[in-house]
Amino acid sequence: MTLKKVTDGTHCGKTFFIDKLELEHLIAHLTSSGYTVVGPKVEDNVIVYAEINNLADLPQGYREEQSGGQYRLSKSPNSNYFEFNLGPHSWKQYLFPPEAVLASAKRSGNRWEFDSSTEENGEFANKFAFLGVRACELAAIGVQDRVFAQGTYVDPIYCNRRSNSFLIAVNCTTAAATCFCTSMGTGPSCSRERENEFDLALTELDTGFLIEIGSEKGAAVAELLNSREPNEIELQAGKSLLARAVSQISKQLNTTNLRDILFNNLEHQRWDEVASRCLACTNCTQVCPTCFCSTVTDVTDLTGEQIERTRHWDSCFNLDFAYMVGGTVRNDRRSRFRQWLVHKLASWHDQFDMSGCVGCGRCITWCPVGIDLTEEVYAIRNTPPSKRSLPVQSSDQSKVCAVGKVRS
Ligand code: SF4
Ligand code: SF4
Repeated sequence: MTLKKVTDGTHCGKTFFIDKLELEHLIAHLTSSGYTVVGPKVEDNVIVYAEINNLADLPQGYREEQSGGQYRLSKSPNSNYFEFNLGPHSWKQYLFPPEAVLASAKRSGNRWEFDSSTEENGEFANKFAFLGVRACELAAIGVQDRVFAQGTYVDPIYCNRRSNSFLIAVNCTTAAATCFCTSMGTGPSCSRERENEFDLALTELDTGFLIEIGSEKGAAVAELLNSREPNEIELQAGKSLLARAVSQISKQLNTTNLRDILFNNLEHQRWDEVASRCLACTNCTQVCPTCFCSTVTDVTDLTGEQIERTRHWDSCFNLDFAYMVGGTVRNDRRSRFRQWLVHKLASWHDQFDMSGCVGCGRCITWCPVGIDLTEEVYAIRNTPPSKRSLPVQSSDQSKVCAVGKVRS
């Protein structure tokens, strides 16, 4: 194999070829540079994201079948490392951890002494390298960047973890039946033109990987790998695999005028129908890579000498999520499902100038009763409402409601 050195950031956008085993060196280089490498791993018959120490940890030769409420992992006749699509985990759990200590204090005489070494104050040693970030997941990270890092209020925990992260994307060469990234303009291949920011992006061929440089940081790491220029056959093979993934995507979400259609149908009968199936289990919000709602609890120890304030993921499907001034404002599943869907696909645009959905399909697969948001939207769009519909809320009005909210 020819040793090809990538020299500097001017190689951004360039593509090289590496052998499959070179991935072992990539993992080792990142680990020795102080990164905790996180990637796909099989646990309990599901592909999750967990710490990766070497190539053997990756789910080689696996593929999965997904549909509403169904996920089945099986062995593939191929020995590829990334033939599957998405499991229930997302990178959100590393950038916006499910539980985080915001503050802690100890009693000292008649005073409280606060511990300033919390992550909220920038105390965090880990740097994560995410291996296997799909195009829709890059888009989801972009959505959470907008929520946590680019508004009036920034989240120090998220910003700290995010700025230290290294993203190795993987282009999808197959698609699950639940994917609809093409409708949302987020995939299935990673594109620097689409602001899918990555440091390196891999396309897995039978013989090796095409590796695209996405940043100067990525170029510096790629420089350490044994690589060479890809030949025409390899480049064409990569293109055909990306085209295959596009051709396998059958699910669609028509986003034309969707914000106004949803706001105009807040009393549509479909909300009652879906409420009769929804269990309010919160699965859809927990697996969603863009959902960001949280709650804060203060807990003292039994002696009353120590107190800790922690932040936990919350969900708009929880009854007490919308509790205020002595009561909850969304006391039925209809209003809670409607809140989730309308926020994702309509008011998110007013709040953040983008959609809250990237088309990953996780909420469809992991809904225990198989509720599919694309079917719900289709029904609302194509069935005349039988009840009173409310007028469209103007963008300006909803922006006033949205400013500064942690909750959706
Ligand atoms: S709403 Fe569903 S399909 Fe859209 S990003 Fe969230 S989990 Fe994925
Ligand atoms: S839509 Fe499905 S996953 Fe979401 S809360 Fe309802 S039952 Fe649970």
